[in-house]
Amino acid sequence: MNTVAKGPEFVVARAEGVWLWDRSGDRYLDGTASLWYCNVGHGRNEIADAVHRQMNTLDAYTVYGDFANEPALELSERLAAHAPIEDPRTILTSGGGESIDTAAKLARSYWAALGQPERQHLISRTGGYHGLNGFGTSIIGMDRFRSGYGRLIEDTSVVPHDSAAALEAEILRVGPHRVAAYFAEPVIGAGGVFLPPEGYFTEVARICQKYGVLFVVDSVICGFARLGNWFGIERFGVSPDMIVFAKGVSSGYLPLGGVMVNGRVADPFWNQEGHPFLHGTTYAGHPTACAAALANLDILEREDLFTVSREVERHLDSALQGLAGHPLVAEVRSGVGVMGAVELTEEALTERGITTAEVFQEARTRGVVVRPVPKALLVSPPLTITWEQIDHLVSTLAGALDAVMARH
Ligand code: PLP
Repeated sequence: MNTVAKGPEFVVARAEGVWLWDRSGDRYLDGTASLWYCNVGHGRNEIADAVHRQMNTLDAYTVYGDFANEPALELSERLAAHAPIEDPRTILTSGGGESIDTAAKLARSYWAALGQPERQHLISRTGGYHGLNGFGTSIIGMDRFRSGYGRLIEDTSVVPHDSAAALEAEILRVGPHRVAAYFAEPVIGAGGVFLPPEGYFTEVARICQKYGVLFVVDSVICGFARLGNWFGIERFGVSPDMIVFAKGVSSGYLPLGGVMVNGRVADPFWNQEGHPFLHGTTYAGHPTACAAALANLDILEREDLFTVSREVERHLDSALQGLAGHPLVAEVRSGVGVMGAVELTEEALTERGITTAEVFQEARTRGVVVRPVPKALLVSPPLTITWEQIDHLVSTLAGALDAVMARH
């Protein structure tokens, strides 16, 4: 707020495909798919048309109690058909953070329903980002998002993102009978694009099973073809107990998210008396948001963006790795999914006083939008990006790094 208060806002006026225009008519490559969500690219008329049709049929109606609507049912069934979990059930929400809070409450409530109310503890990973609602803020793996709000939700802890042994040690430290669930992104996104080490998820799935801990996958960024499949986690061949999704489910055309749970988690709520899950939101199952998602899924399937994404991933990876030799660059992380991080050296950040915000501004002035986090520039373009556009993105970023280096 303080930065924006000092200067003009960057007003995005229009978008089409991978391009944005500001209100002066200048064009920019959307290297971040807005905030990791516009998987099918901007300006898809068929999504707008589906929204228009739905608005004229049933604009919005609650799905509380036994109320339902056709788009919400169809979307839930379609997602269930592709979910890498057994006997899936879906709760729809309006976004990622809301879905994380839903999953955390479900996990604790599940154990309470099973007569183990002491199973409350939630474990997450360093660098993990799970939105900024109450539980999300409490389990986030980045301290800067946690401070200033007083005491957060208790009985949570964070383990190193790259060590399954650390997860097991933490479960044993807390006591397996006290641990409700473990939360992980398939590839850590907003925290800086951290890929899991070889075999990591096989091992954590085994550990969760061994101690009965619910395995919750946060697919908010990794889902809907960004990793070349439906929910991202399929890439690692494991089956979680819950999957949290948002963003790419509707490519952001309208806000939508949700939680899918397997039969094990659903069972006490569906099949036992006396365990209602007294949770829900006004816009859950919003028919028009679901209609946008269904049209988005049509595009993903018809254009086979699942396969396209794997090819884009390879090209983006090799283009980004070309920046690894730049004097300001410490490391390039890419190669799983259409996303990457270009991390600056400590020398650049501390001794030269370069900030990622400066590189981001320079790149934007040159017509490319990337995302700055404290140590890295992140990219996650729409999956429809071409090779030529990837090369333009990466060469513009290289030019921005050169220009910033010359100033320092
Ligand atoms: N989980 C992940 C992995 C995310 O990247 C995000 C948002 O970036 C969220 C959850 C939160 O989603 P929302 O911002 O829709 O609340």
